[in-house]
Amino acid sequence: MKASSYTLLADEVLTLDSRGMTYSPGAVVIEGDSISYVGPPQAEKSGTVIHLDGCALLPGLVDVHTHTPMWLFRGLTEDVPRGEWLQARMRPLETLVGPSELRAGALAGCLELLTSGVTTIADRYSEMGEVAGAVEESGLRAVLAHSLYDSDAERGLREAEALLGRFGADPARSRVWAGVGPHATDSCGPDLLRRVAALAERSGARIFIHLAQAEAEVAAVRARGYAGCAAYLDELGLLAPTVVVAHGTYLTDGEADLVGRRGTAVAHCPSSNAKLEARVAPVGRMRRSGAVVGLGTDAACCNNGMDLFAEMRTAGLLNKVAADDPAAFPAADLLRMATTEAAAALGIAHLVGSLETGKRADVIAVDRRAPHVQPWHDPVANLVYAARGSDVSAVFVDGTPLVLDRRPVRLDAERILADATQAAHALAPLAVGP
Ligand SMILES: [Zn+2]
Repeated sequence: MKASSYTLLADEVLTLDSRGMTYSPGAVVIEGDSISYVGPPQAEKSGTVIHLDGCALLPGLVDVHTHTPMWLFRGLTEDVPRGEWLQARMRPLETLVGPSELRAGALAGCLELLTSGVTTIADRYSEMGEVAGAVEESGLRAVLAHSLYDSDAERGLREAEALLGRFGADPARSRVWAGVGPHATDSCGPDLLRRVAALAERSGARIFIHLAQAEAEVAAVRARGYAGCAAYLDELGLLAPTVVVAHGTYLTDGEADLVGRRGTAVAHCPSSNAKLEARVAPVGRMRRSGAVVGLGTDAACCNNGMDLFAEMRTAGLLNKVAADDPAAFPAADLLRMATTEAAAALGIAHLVGSLETGKRADVIAVDRRAPHVQPWHDPVANLVYAARGSDVSAVFVDGTPLVLDRRPVRLDAERILADATQAAHALAPLAVGP
């Protein structure tokens, strides 16, 4: 089959390459799954020409921490006192859904992410064998990890191995690939984490783990005799550039420095942390010490949206407050944390995160004509603080158009939402009240 070729023409192209090149107007040429040209429009146009009038092109956004199936639970766990969310509220709900409902929810979650300009996700949950089918169908680029717990370690490890067997661990070879996902530092003891480390070593997979997300987690790890959650991971050799730790909400300053010194990849989910824990993770400190930080939406039930534009804005606002410094977290850094730095956190900066010749063609078009993004004096500030996921009008992943004119091309949005809301509605009467 002949590879498709497209010429995308737009008012502006923000490459986010190392020089921060922009072109106004600009063009991105796609050959097959890759970018063959970025720059000013050329006289000769190759392939199908797509005019994206009024739009800025930028690299697709990279969401380094999400749980797509939890789309089902949006609105069922609101305003919960600190410490009660996971065990008292989430876990009972999770027992009520099976693999087919999770798959329906995951597909709806993918639809939400994709139409909001996210092109890569790091997704993790239970029943990932089933969820993987939904993620594959969506066309998103994704690294998938099955959540592992001490309470079901053998079955979990078998699932993790199966996911690795099915997708491999090499993002250059497969649009969907596998990671290894121990759930958290309290729910995974040293024996399981040693087996996780061995599996990751053997397969070349990245490790994804929740770190110091809640006070109960910190208390449980200390009760095991460790100084803290970060020290625990470090003792097992699990603070490293190939490990993506999510949250870090309750890390001490010393632990944040340690996470950074090891060059650990960090998933910063500011909305989720604010909503569930009323906290801002010490991500500025981690980043200054050397951590590679990407933004994550976490889940629809603790955010409550899966819009990385909103996450950039929230990260900026909360971290300025936390630092007591309005100059902290400049907009350019926040945009990097949703593109190039997020890609680096997932080990795929050589493939995506910027618009450059030879990279995979993950491109989004943001309509810059709406009143809330005009005037367009400062594109980066507008993208971070004014734009919304709903401003995304076109999305390409691996050179394939997945959204055009704000509508999904391959996915049947009506059917997906009908299936997923049906699965979600079955839960509503069973939600645990406040
Ligand atoms: Zn999470």
